[in-house]
Formats: sequence, C-alpha cells, structure tokens
Amino acid sequence: MKYAFVGGTRVQAEPKLSGICPSCKSEVISKCGKHVIWHWAHRSRSSCDPWWENETAWHRGWKNRFPAEWQEITHQDPVSRDRHIADVKTSHGVVVEFQRSTIDPVEVTAREQFYKRMVWVIDGTRSELDSSTFNISRGTLREDGLAQLKWWGRSRLFHR
Ligand SMILES: [Zn+2]
Repeated sequence: MKYAFVGGTRVQAEPKLSGICPSCKSEVISKCGKHVIWHWAHRSRSSCDPWWENETAWHRGWKNRFPAEWQEITHQDPVSRDRHIADVKTSHGVVVEFQRSTIDPVEVTAREQFYKRMVWVIDGTRSELDSSTFNISRGTLREDGLAQLKWWGRSRLFHR
C-alpha cells in the first residue's frame, strides 16, 4: 500500500516506520528497500484485502496521475460489510483498478459487482509481445474516443 496512518496522518512509507492500515486498522510496517517500490505491508504477512495486488512502479505511476485523496480508498459494502481497497475512487464514486497480473474471470465479476461503477486499466505493455499485439488488437478510434479491443495474442491477462 502507498498510504498508512501514522499518528493520525495518512502518509507514505519511509524507512523504519510503523503505522495503521486505513482499511483493517491493524499494524503495518514500512518496506523501503532498493528493489521493490517503497510501501506499507501488514505485519501479519497476510493482506487484509484478498484482491490486493503487489504494487509495482506501473501501479504507482498510474495512481499518481490522480489526486492523493482519491488513491487507495477503502470501500465497504453497507450490507455484507465486505471491505476492499480501491486503487482509485473519484469524488464521483467511480472506482479505477489498475491490473497488471492475470486475474480469474470470477474475481473480475466479483469486483465489478462490488464496486458497481468501475473501470479497469490493464497493463498492455508488460511484455514486448503484449505491447505489439495490443496495438494490432485495438480497433480504430471512434468519434467518442473509444476503440474496440479484440485480443488474439498470448497474454492470459488480456485473453481473460
Ligand atoms: Zn489492512
């Protein structure tokens, strides 16, 4: 996670800090190494959100395109009390999820039903092959700025 609470303030990870997870309120510790992007991790190893994907520079770069107060927003279903951390939730309540690894279609549906108003941003440049296939698979842009994607490459993520 990019953010945790330290002394009541929502802050980014810095070396040798501990904080509180904004979602489950359990203790998190800063992980500030050379190889992995600086982040917060639950002390108990297991994340509180089974949908959480390990963050890469790609995830962080996308999140950073949005205001800090929209990033990593805990969303709770009022009935089931299920709780998940949206990568981005806009002030209008639209959730944006950044997906880099392959994901089971059952989970895709579960997330869409949970967040209701959401869009996916999928990494189409993860491998060189994906990148070129993405451009070939994408139809021409329509007047409204959208294009159809008919995937035929080997990427399981796009196939799903
Ligand atoms: Zn947590």
